Amino acid sequence: MEIKKIGVLGAGSMGNGIAQVASQAGYSVVMRDIEDRFVENGLKAIDKFLAKSVEKGKMTEDQKKGILSRIKGTTRMEDLKDVDFVIEAVFEDLELKRNVFKALDEIARPDVILTTNTSSMSVTEIAMATRRPEKVAGMHFFNPAPLMKLVEVIRGYHTSDETVQVVMEMSRKMGKEPVEVKKDTPGFIVNRLMIPHLVEAIRMLEEGVASKEDIDKAVKLGLNYPMGPFELMDLTGIDIAHHVTEYLYKELPKESKWSVPPLLRSMIRAGKLGRKTKGGWYQY
Ligand code: NAD
Repeated sequence: MEIKKIGVLGAGSMGNGIAQVASQAGYSVVMRDIEDRFVENGLKAIDKFLAKSVEKGKMTEDQKKGILSRIKGTTRMEDLKDVDFVIEAVFEDLELKRNVFKALDEIARPDVILTTNTSSMSVTEIAMATRRPEKVAGMHFFNPAPLMKLVEVIRGYHTSDETVQVVMEMSRKMGKEPVEVKKDTPGFIVNRLMIPHLVEAIRMLEEGVASKEDIDKAVKLGLNYPMGPFELMDLTGIDIAHHVTEYLYKELPKESKWSVPPLLRSMIRAGKLGRKTKGGWYQY
Protein backbone atom coordinates (compact mmCIF):
# COMPACT_ATOMS: atom_id res chain seq x y z
CA MET A 1 0.00 0.00 0.00
CA GLU A 2 1.42 3.36 -0.99
CA ILE A 3 1.70 5.95 1.76
CA LYS A 4 0.37 9.33 0.63
CA LYS A 5 -1.24 10.93 3.62
CA ILE A 6 0.34 11.27 7.06
CA GLY A 7 -1.45 12.02 10.32
CA VAL A 8 0.46 14.00 12.95
CA LEU A 9 -0.90 14.18 16.51
CA GLY A 10 0.10 17.36 18.34
CA ALA A 11 0.95 20.73 16.78
CA GLY A 12 3.57 21.67 19.43
CA SER A 13 7.28 22.15 18.76
CA MET A 14 7.83 18.58 17.58
CA GLY A 15 4.42 18.06 15.94
CA ASN A 16 4.60 21.14 13.74
CA GLY A 17 8.24 20.43 12.84
CA ILE A 18 7.37 16.87 11.84
CA ALA A 19 4.30 18.01 9.86
CA GLN A 20 6.55 20.44 7.98
CA VAL A 21 9.16 17.76 7.25
CA ALA A 22 6.46 15.37 5.96
CA SER A 23 4.90 18.01 3.73
CA GLN A 24 8.31 19.07 2.40
CA ALA A 25 8.80 15.45 1.36
CA GLY A 26 5.60 15.70 -0.70
CA TYR A 27 3.09 13.99 1.61
CA SER A 28 -0.32 15.42 2.47
CA VAL A 29 -0.49 15.97 6.18
CA VAL A 30 -3.32 16.16 8.70
CA MET A 31 -2.01 17.82 11.88
CA ARG A 32 -4.33 17.43 14.84
CA ASP A 33 -4.28 19.22 18.19
CA ILE A 34 -6.98 19.61 20.85
CA GLU A 35 -7.73 23.32 20.51
CA ASP A 36 -7.90 25.67 17.53
CA ARG A 37 -5.34 28.02 19.05
CA PHE A 38 -2.75 25.20 19.32
CA VAL A 39 -3.38 24.24 15.70
CA GLU A 40 -3.08 27.91 14.64
CA ASN A 41 0.18 28.31 16.60
CA GLY A 42 1.59 25.18 14.95
CA LEU A 43 0.70 26.45 11.47
CA LYS A 44 2.18 29.86 12.29
CA ALA A 45 5.44 28.27 13.45
CA ILE A 46 5.71 26.39 10.14
CA ASP A 47 4.94 29.57 8.17
CA LYS A 48 7.65 31.43 10.10
CA PHE A 49 10.25 28.71 9.55
CA LEU A 50 9.49 28.57 5.82
CA ALA A 51 9.49 32.38 5.49
CA LYS A 52 13.05 32.39 6.86
CA SER A 53 14.04 29.72 4.33
CA VAL A 54 12.65 31.90 1.52
CA GLU A 55 14.51 34.92 2.90
CA LYS A 56 17.76 32.93 2.93
CA GLY A 57 17.13 31.85 -0.68
CA LYS A 58 16.77 28.18 0.30
CA MET A 59 13.30 27.90 -1.24
CA THR A 60 10.95 29.90 -3.43
CA GLU A 61 7.69 31.55 -2.34
CA ASP A 62 5.86 29.00 -4.52
CA GLN A 63 7.54 26.08 -2.78
CA LYS A 64 6.57 27.57 0.57
CA LYS A 65 2.95 27.89 -0.56
CA GLY A 66 2.99 24.30 -1.78
CA ILE A 67 4.28 23.00 1.56
CA LEU A 68 1.67 24.96 3.55
CA SER A 69 -1.16 23.90 1.21
CA ARG A 70 -0.44 20.21 1.88
CA ILE A 71 -0.90 20.62 5.66
CA LYS A 72 -4.43 20.55 7.00
CA GLY A 73 -4.76 21.63 10.62
CA THR A 74 -7.64 20.19 12.59
CA THR A 75 -9.00 19.50 16.07
CA ARG A 76 -11.19 16.63 14.84
CA MET A 77 -9.90 13.12 15.45
CA GLU A 78 -12.19 11.84 12.64
CA ASP A 79 -10.06 13.72 10.11
CA LEU A 80 -7.43 11.02 10.62
CA LYS A 81 -9.65 8.23 9.34
CA ASP A 82 -8.12 8.11 5.86
CA VAL A 83 -4.43 8.64 6.72
CA ASP A 84 -1.88 5.98 5.66
CA PHE A 85 0.71 6.50 8.42
CA VAL A 86 0.64 8.20 11.83
CA ILE A 87 3.27 10.04 13.89
CA GLU A 88 2.20 10.95 17.42
CA ALA A 89 3.86 13.93 19.17
CA VAL A 90 1.51 14.86 22.05
CA PHE A 91 2.74 15.68 25.58
CA GLU A 92 5.17 13.21 27.18
CA ASP A 93 2.53 11.53 29.36
CA LEU A 94 2.03 7.78 29.23
CA GLU A 95 -1.71 7.77 30.01
CA LEU A 96 -2.36 10.49 27.43
CA LYS A 97 -0.34 8.63 24.80
CA ARG A 98 -2.13 5.35 25.53
CA ASN A 99 -5.51 7.08 25.21
CA VAL A 100 -4.47 8.69 21.94
CA PHE A 101 -3.29 5.32 20.57
CA LYS A 102 -6.52 3.63 21.64
CA ALA A 103 -8.52 6.28 19.80
CA LEU A 104 -6.23 6.07 16.75
CA ASP A 105 -6.61 2.31 16.69
CA GLU A 106 -10.37 2.74 16.36
CA ILE A 107 -10.18 5.44 13.69
CA ALA A 108 -7.26 4.47 11.42
CA ARG A 109 -7.50 1.55 8.95
CA PRO A 110 -6.16 -1.70 10.47
CA ASP A 111 -3.18 -1.78 8.07
CA VAL A 112 -1.93 1.68 9.11
CA ILE A 113 1.33 1.91 11.06
CA LEU A 114 1.17 4.08 14.19
CA THR A 115 4.40 5.61 15.48
CA THR A 116 5.27 7.61 18.58
CA ASN A 117 7.84 10.37 18.92
CA THR A 118 8.21 9.71 22.66
CA SER A 119 11.66 10.59 24.02
CA SER A 120 11.51 8.18 26.92
CA MET A 121 8.29 6.19 27.34
CA SER A 122 8.06 2.50 26.58
CA VAL A 123 6.94 1.92 22.99
CA THR A 124 5.63 -1.50 24.05
CA GLU A 125 3.40 0.00 26.73
CA ILE A 126 1.97 2.50 24.26
CA ALA A 127 1.49 -0.23 21.62
CA MET A 128 -0.45 -2.39 24.07
CA ALA A 129 -3.24 0.20 24.12
CA THR A 130 -4.01 -0.89 20.52
CA ARG A 131 -5.14 -4.12 18.86
CA ARG A 132 -2.20 -3.84 16.44
CA PRO A 133 0.98 -3.77 18.58
CA GLU A 134 2.93 -5.32 15.68
CA LYS A 135 2.18 -2.14 13.71
CA VAL A 136 3.41 0.27 16.38
CA ALA A 137 6.99 1.58 16.59
CA GLY A 138 8.95 4.50 17.99
CA MET A 139 9.94 7.21 15.49
CA HIS A 140 12.08 9.58 17.54
CA PHE A 141 12.87 12.86 15.78
CA PHE A 142 15.21 15.47 17.25
CA ASN A 143 14.55 19.12 17.87
CA PRO A 144 14.24 21.13 15.60
CA ALA A 145 12.80 18.38 13.40
CA PRO A 146 13.24 20.23 10.08
CA LEU A 147 17.00 20.58 10.71
CA MET A 148 18.09 17.54 12.69
CA LYS A 149 18.98 14.58 10.47
CA LEU A 150 18.59 11.71 12.90
CA VAL A 151 15.53 9.53 13.53
CA GLU A 152 15.75 6.68 16.07
CA VAL A 153 13.40 3.90 14.96
CA ILE A 154 12.46 1.87 18.02
CA ARG A 155 11.24 -1.68 18.00
CA GLY A 156 8.66 -2.43 20.68
CA TYR A 157 8.28 -5.97 22.02
CA HIS A 158 5.67 -6.87 19.38
CA THR A 159 6.83 -4.65 16.49
CA SER A 160 7.11 -6.67 13.27
CA ASP A 161 10.14 -6.64 10.94
CA GLU A 162 7.93 -5.24 8.22
CA THR A 163 6.85 -2.31 10.41
CA VAL A 164 10.48 -1.50 11.27
CA GLN A 165 11.37 -1.57 7.56
CA VAL A 166 8.51 0.73 6.61
CA VAL A 167 9.34 3.23 9.36
CA MET A 168 13.05 3.21 8.36
CA GLU A 169 12.00 3.79 4.74
CA MET A 170 9.57 6.57 5.68
CA SER A 171 12.34 8.30 7.66
CA ARG A 172 14.55 8.25 4.56
CA LYS A 173 11.73 9.53 2.35
CA MET A 174 11.32 12.39 4.81
CA GLY A 175 15.00 13.26 4.25
CA LYS A 176 16.25 11.78 7.52
CA GLU A 177 18.91 9.25 8.48
CA PRO A 178 17.32 6.48 10.55
CA VAL A 179 19.03 4.17 13.02
CA GLU A 180 17.34 1.07 14.36
CA VAL A 181 17.05 0.65 18.12
CA LYS A 182 16.51 -3.09 18.39
CA LYS A 183 15.23 -3.03 21.95
CA ASP A 184 12.65 -0.85 23.62
CA THR A 185 15.09 0.50 26.16
CA PRO A 186 15.04 3.71 28.29
CA GLY A 187 16.78 6.63 26.59
CA PHE A 188 17.20 4.68 23.33
CA ILE A 189 20.71 5.44 21.94
CA VAL A 190 21.21 9.18 22.08
CA ASN A 191 19.82 10.03 25.52
CA ARG A 192 21.40 6.99 27.10
CA LEU A 193 24.81 8.20 25.91
CA MET A 194 24.17 11.87 26.49
CA ILE A 195 22.94 11.73 30.09
CA PRO A 196 26.11 10.21 31.64
CA HIS A 197 28.12 12.84 29.73
CA LEU A 198 26.00 15.68 31.20
CA VAL A 199 25.99 14.14 34.69
CA GLU A 200 29.78 13.80 34.67
CA ALA A 201 30.21 17.40 33.53
CA ILE A 202 28.06 18.60 36.47
CA ARG A 203 30.03 16.38 38.89
CA MET A 204 33.34 17.85 37.66
CA LEU A 205 31.93 21.32 38.28
CA GLU A 206 30.77 20.27 41.77
CA GLU A 207 34.20 18.87 42.57
CA GLY A 208 35.93 22.01 41.34
CA VAL A 209 37.87 20.11 38.67
CA ALA A 210 37.30 22.94 36.19
CA SER A 211 34.99 25.88 35.50
CA LYS A 212 31.88 25.33 33.38
CA GLU A 213 33.40 27.59 30.71
CA ASP A 214 36.52 25.41 30.54
CA ILE A 215 34.53 22.15 30.54
CA ASP A 216 32.45 23.48 27.61
CA LYS A 217 35.61 24.66 25.83
CA ALA A 218 37.37 21.32 26.39
CA VAL A 219 34.45 19.35 24.98
CA LYS A 220 34.13 21.61 21.93
CA LEU A 221 37.83 21.68 21.08
CA GLY A 222 38.87 18.26 22.35
CA LEU A 223 35.91 16.17 21.22
CA ASN A 224 34.88 18.41 18.35
CA TYR A 225 31.30 18.67 19.62
CA PRO A 226 29.44 21.77 18.40
CA MET A 227 28.40 22.66 21.97
CA GLY A 228 29.65 21.99 25.47
CA PRO A 229 27.44 20.15 28.01
CA PHE A 230 26.44 23.31 29.93
CA GLU A 231 25.59 25.23 26.76
CA LEU A 232 23.59 22.24 25.53
CA MET A 233 21.58 21.95 28.76
CA ASP A 234 20.81 25.68 28.68
CA LEU A 235 19.52 25.32 25.13
CA THR A 236 17.40 22.20 25.56
CA GLY A 237 16.25 22.91 29.14
CA ILE A 238 17.90 21.93 32.43
CA ASP A 239 14.51 20.56 33.56
CA ILE A 240 14.50 18.17 30.59
CA ALA A 241 18.03 16.95 31.46
CA HIS A 242 16.85 16.46 35.07
CA HIS A 243 13.68 14.61 34.01
CA VAL A 244 15.50 12.23 31.66
CA THR A 245 18.25 11.55 34.23
CA GLU A 246 15.65 10.63 36.85
CA TYR A 247 13.89 8.42 34.35
CA LEU A 248 17.05 6.48 33.41
CA TYR A 249 17.88 6.04 37.11
CA LYS A 250 14.40 4.69 37.76
CA GLU A 251 14.33 2.30 34.79
CA LEU A 252 17.92 1.07 34.44
CA PRO A 253 20.27 -0.57 36.97
CA LYS A 254 20.98 1.93 39.77
CA GLU A 255 24.33 3.33 38.70
CA SER A 256 25.97 6.64 39.52
CA LYS A 257 26.28 7.49 35.82
CA TRP A 258 22.59 8.43 35.82
CA SER A 259 22.00 9.44 39.41
CA VAL A 260 20.97 13.11 39.70
CA PRO A 261 23.86 15.28 41.02
CA PRO A 262 22.81 17.60 43.91
CA LEU A 263 23.84 20.66 41.88
CA LEU A 264 21.39 19.70 39.12
CA ARG A 265 18.61 19.35 41.68
CA SER A 266 19.35 22.76 43.18
CA MET A 267 19.24 24.40 39.72
CA ILE A 268 15.70 23.03 39.27
CA ARG A 269 14.63 24.23 42.72
CA ALA A 270 16.03 27.69 41.96
CA GLY A 271 14.01 27.85 38.72
CA LYS A 272 17.19 28.11 36.65
CA LEU A 273 16.11 26.09 33.64
CA GLY A 274 18.28 27.54 30.88
CA ARG A 275 17.62 29.96 28.03
CA LYS A 276 13.85 29.71 28.45
CA THR A 277 14.09 31.25 31.95
CA LYS A 278 16.81 33.67 30.80
CA GLY A 279 19.26 31.97 33.08
CA GLY A 280 20.67 28.53 33.67
CA TRP A 281 24.33 27.65 33.81
CA TYR A 282 24.88 30.96 32.02
CA GLN A 283 22.96 34.28 32.05
CA TYR A 284 21.06 35.40 28.93
P1 NAD B 1 4.72 20.45 23.15
O1 NAD B 1 4.24 20.69 24.53
O2 NAD B 1 5.40 21.55 22.40
O3 NAD B 1 3.48 19.96 22.25
C1 NAD B 1 2.59 18.95 22.60
C2 NAD B 1 1.26 19.25 21.93
O4 NAD B 1 0.40 18.11 22.08
C3 NAD B 1 0.52 20.44 22.55
O5 NAD B 1 0.25 21.41 21.55
C4 NAD B 1 -0.77 19.80 23.07
O6 NAD B 1 -1.91 20.65 23.00
C5 NAD B 1 -0.90 18.61 22.16
N1 NAD B 1 -1.84 17.57 22.61
C6 NAD B 1 -2.13 17.19 23.88
N2 NAD B 1 -3.06 16.21 23.87
C7 NAD B 1 -3.35 15.97 22.56
C8 NAD B 1 -4.21 15.05 21.89
N3 NAD B 1 -4.99 14.22 22.57
N4 NAD B 1 -4.27 15.08 20.54
C9 NAD B 1 -3.48 15.94 19.85
N5 NAD B 1 -2.63 16.81 20.42
C10 NAD B 1 -2.57 16.83 21.76
O7 NAD B 1 5.64 19.16 23.24
P2 NAD B 1 6.83 18.72 22.24
O8 NAD B 1 8.11 19.29 22.73
O9 NAD B 1 6.40 18.95 20.83
O10 NAD B 1 6.89 17.14 22.55
C11 NAD B 1 5.99 16.24 21.97
C12 NAD B 1 6.56 14.84 22.07
O11 NAD B 1 7.81 14.78 21.41
C13 NAD B 1 6.83 14.36 23.51
O12 NAD B 1 6.56 13.00 23.58
C14 NAD B 1 8.31 14.65 23.68
O13 NAD B 1 8.92 13.81 24.65
C15 NAD B 1 8.82 14.31 22.29
N6 NAD B 1 10.10 14.92 21.92
C16 NAD B 1 10.39 16.21 22.27
C17 NAD B 1 11.60 16.77 21.88
C18 NAD B 1 11.93 18.20 22.23
O14 NAD B 1 13.12 18.54 22.23
N7 NAD B 1 10.95 19.06 22.51
C19 NAD B 1 12.51 16.02 21.11
C20 NAD B 1 12.17 14.72 20.73
C21 NAD B 1 10.96 14.18 21.15
